[in-house]
This record gives sequence, structure tokens and C-alpha cells, in this order.
Amino acid sequence: MPTRDDVLRELGLSPRWRLRDRARDDDIDTDPRRARIASLACDELVADIDACRACALGATRTCSVPGVGVQGAPWMFVGEAPGADEDAQGEPFVGAAGRLLDNMLAALGLSRERDVFIANVLKCRPPGNRAPEPAEADACRPYLDRQIELVGPTLIVALGKSAACTLLGVDAPVGSLRRRVHRYGATPLVVTYHPAYLLRTPADKAKAWEDLLFARNALREALTQAGKPAMPSGAGACAPRPQAA
Ligand code: SF4
Repeated sequence: MPTRDDVLRELGLSPRWRLRDRARDDDIDTDPRRARIASLACDELVADIDACRACALGATRTCSVPGVGVQGAPWMFVGEAPGADEDAQGEPFVGAAGRLLDNMLAALGLSRERDVFIANVLKCRPPGNRAPEPAEADACRPYLDRQIELVGPTLIVALGKSAACTLLGVDAPVGSLRRRVHRYGATPLVVTYHPAYLLRTPADKAKAWEDLLFARNALREALTQAGKPAMPSGAGACAPRPQAA
């Protein structure tokens, strides 16, 4: 007999984003793999992701794509999953979508080398750039949670539905989540469109720019409330893997 996931997939309604409940979080907290990942330092986390086979994507990737940026950065951008260019290079948001993200950052006076950390929900490319399956997002979630803990951003920007729904534990379109300050734990979180979507739908670029200005205001408010300087610089590089000399 088909499962509910099978039926939803047949109707074109998957992936189905699962709400996290307290009991399940408690289960995760007692999960040995999650507990081990939660104790890893930045370089250990990168090595662990490189060796990970916790879901089937570990067998089909070319490179894992842990994330890139500055530990201690005030901004953290979270996207969906690596695409073909990212899979080949091991860095998130390269190629056309990456150039658009860099341009958006530059318009805010930000650079990925100095001000932000960028990661994805999944660290390995789904074949054919399909959307992440809920089981894959669940398996990879401990890495994202640990990255957020290590980076300690003042503000998280979720790029697209996969990132927003994974981080917020909701199932809702991006349009209904924009222009509001959500919370990931105690950290403010703002939702906007994924750059790849904006390349396909350029008419929504203006909305994305509104979202980034909204996010900048939310960041400034969070810094003020925390008594931090207006734009602190990052504390140290946390590159995807050791850089060649
Ligand atoms: S996608 Fe995440 S959970 Fe799956 S193999 Fe890659 S690192 Fe591991």
C-alpha cells in the first residue's frame, strides 16, 4: 500500500516539510551522531562532512560543500543544496546564482570573504538538482545546526523555501514568510527568495532587494539590543576546507 509520502510525491506535493516537535527534539538530543557532531570544531566539522555517508547523496556527490565564510560573521545565509557548479568546486553559491548573491551582498556593502557565512541545508548535491527529500534534510540537519552554533550569527537569512521551512519547522511558501522577523532559537531569521529562483523570475528581484533591506534593519536592531557595534567584523575564517598555499 502506498505511504502518505508516496501519494504526496505522485501529486507533485513532495517534499513534505515535517514540523519539529519537542519530543522529537529530545530524541535528537539523545542521538549519538547528533551529539558527536554538536561537539565538533570548525575544521573537524568539515572533515566529518567530507566523510559523511549518512544519506544516499554521499555516494553520488563529487565534492561535499560544507559552507564558506567567516566564523563570527554577523550575517549567515542558508540556501537549499549544492548544484552542479558547487558539487564540482566544493563551495556554495558559485555559478550564476552565486554571482547574483555576490552582487546582492555587494549592494549591501558586504562581501563573502569578510562579512558573511554561507551554507546550505544539504551539504551534498541531489542528483539532477532535485529538491531535498525530508529524510536527507533530517540527516544533514546536525551539520547545519552545528555550523550556526559555531558561526554565531546575529541574523540568519533563509534563501528559498527549503531553507526557510527546514530552519523554522513550518510548511509555507516563501511569499507568506517574507517581511517578518522569525526566530531560529534566539537568533532572528528573515526569509527571502533563492537566487536561482530570481534568475528564473527576474520580476521578483525587487522583492528580494526589499527583503535584504528589511534584513539589514533587523540586523541593526539585533545588534543594538545586544549592545554590539553596528557592523562587527568576523572573528576568523572558516573555509570549506584548508586552502592551498
Ligand atoms: S547530504 Fe548531508 S547527511 Fe547526506 S551524505 Fe551529504 S553530508 Fe551526509
